[in-house]
Amino acid sequence: MKPDRISDRSWVEIDLSSFRQNLRALKAFLAPDQGFIQIVKADAYGHGAAEISRVALAEGAAALGVANLDEGKLLRIQGCKAPILILSPALENELGGILDYSLTPTLSDLGMAQKLSSLAASRNSVASVQLKLDSGMHRSGAVEKDFAALWEGCRKLPDLKVEGIFSHFAASESDPDFSRQQEEAFLRILNKHGLNPRQAHLANSSALVNGLGRQFGLCRLGILSYGVFTHPHQCARIGLKPVMTFKSRVVQLKDLPKGSRVGYNLIWQATRRTRCAIIPVGYADGYDFLLSNRGTVSINGKLCPVIGRVSMDMLSVDVTDLKELRPGEEVILLGGTDPELRVENLSARFSGSPYELLCQVGRRAKRYFYDRGKLVTSAPLARREFVSSDYPDSQLNQIIQSAIAQRINSEEMGELISREILRVFFYNKDREILYRRYFAHSIRLEECGSASHWRAITTLSFVKTLQNDFFTVACANTEQALKEYFLRRDVEYRWLMDGNFAIGPQTFQLSSVRINRLKLSTSIHFRHSCMEIRCSHPRLKSLVGSEVRFRIDTETLYPKNSHQLSVFITELTRGVKIGFIHPGALARIECIPVFAGQNKFPRVSVTQDSVRIATKPGEWVFPRSGVVFAY
Ligand SMILES: *Cc1c(COP(=O)(O)O)cnc(C)c1O
Repeated sequence: MKPDRISDRSWVEIDLSSFRQNLRALKAFLAPDQGFIQIVKADAYGHGAAEISRVALAEGAAALGVANLDEGKLLRIQGCKAPILILSPALENELGGILDYSLTPTLSDLGMAQKLSSLAASRNSVASVQLKLDSGMHRSGAVEKDFAALWEGCRKLPDLKVEGIFSHFAASESDPDFSRQQEEAFLRILNKHGLNPRQAHLANSSALVNGLGRQFGLCRLGILSYGVFTHPHQCARIGLKPVMTFKSRVVQLKDLPKGSRVGYNLIWQATRRTRCAIIPVGYADGYDFLLSNRGTVSINGKLCPVIGRVSMDMLSVDVTDLKELRPGEEVILLGGTDPELRVENLSARFSGSPYELLCQVGRRAKRYFYDRGKLVTSAPLARREFVSSDYPDSQLNQIIQSAIAQRINSEEMGELISREILRVFFYNKDREILYRRYFAHSIRLEECGSASHWRAITTLSFVKTLQNDFFTVACANTEQALKEYFLRRDVEYRWLMDGNFAIGPQTFQLSSVRINRLKLSTSIHFRHSCMEIRCSHPRLKSLVGSEVRFRIDTETLYPKNSHQLSVFITELTRGVKIGFIHPGALARIECIPVFAGQNKFPRVSVTQDSVRIATKPGEWVFPRSGVVFAY
């Protein structure tokens, strides 16, 4: 997709090459051996935390910084394995999630530290944490007199590991004197407690460029890495490129006579005959209301003033001086190469915060990521409802897997099933999806005059597309041999014979095999010590490819001392009924269904001489589901 083919109403382009260049320029300010934490809170200041983190880690970031559990968790779900520091204080109810996702919280008080430590102990794990000291900003962090108790207390908690200590500047870009005081205070307090400055960090990005916090092991890079200055003197020290560009298109053009007034409350009036362009972006898209009558946009390389109030979904610009403008023309609202459109310059027009403007931009815009001039990926709009068409296949595969794992409450099975689904449904497109419907299996045990075994009478029926003009029923007496029959697609029924019985027509008998009403003929073959019964009929040929009803009746022996009987679902099945009918003498039968699929708990009904389980007729049941009857 080329940039000029983007046909959205508005969109955000993220230039990862510029981000990389900014990082390299900033890294030149690091002291030798000093590392950095990439701050990616608020979705990397609106730039997309997953992509930004990937580049930052490749550029050597030691860790990532986020605002809260949710942001950290999202990065983990997206596959990030790097250390993630949560910068804001956690709520007590977030501690469990913080441990679940191996995130590093910031602790400012001992009470929370103790709660976290006991929670970690109860899970047999150790929580990595960082401590925050308030060196003068007086926002979060422990003030000096409380810090001693926090540090000494944490040191004694066996289930906490303090990985770092940090503090934050209040005015690193604008107040060098106060910043030096903070730096000295931080160093003094660390020394007082015998703490190593290599394990500490203080500077944010503008502090780094001002030469602050170089004695500490790390610094924390945010806004400058995104190519946005926070103070005019910075541009003399470092060259930075804006990473984000916010774009839209002209949706309407109109000519207004001199004297016309424009927009809500009519605050702008034309002093000449004016051509105006309507842009489908307003404050709901993150274009600040305070840019009303103050903003400028760039069209065809020319700056055009925003006229009148910014509305919720539209704004108007004066394009009188532009020749040959047509609806559909691209508009740069923020970022790009024109200095006027730098975030810091736009926000300065309304005395706003460049940080805020960055985070609010593009609420309705899809993000497109470029690297070395090429579109590498895009991120869908953040919607409240999941809309699958927003996502590329690779991401959908990941979503399918995690959704299945979550739904059946097993990571392992989730991975297996989703891989099977992808294989069967997507990769082998030519392969027909086979599944069984109306599956009914009953096993009846009855006395046959023997002290050691029952007679077992089994009936299996189901509906399935006929693959061949024959199929096989197999009887084996080892799990290993039976396993092989699970892999063979011609085998429709398998029976595991107790090792005490010799396999043969005397011990395992196919009483009747039918496809629809057609009675099939059978022929017995022995392979190793297994018996294979081939079931066929000349008239089956005409039924291949159509759905037929299978019915297989057998009679065999079952040892009385087994004390359990299990039935497994071997194929994708829709609607399952399994019955165990026994001599009434067998009291207290336990029925343990292990079902994966639409419903984990089939209905169980018990009578004096039977136990039956059933799903609803339309319910999907996945292979490897089954039931054990123990008596
Ligand atoms: C946001 C934040 C930073 C990054 O600051 P910039 O000014 O964007 O470089 C660093 N440290 C902490 C604690 C923060 O919250």
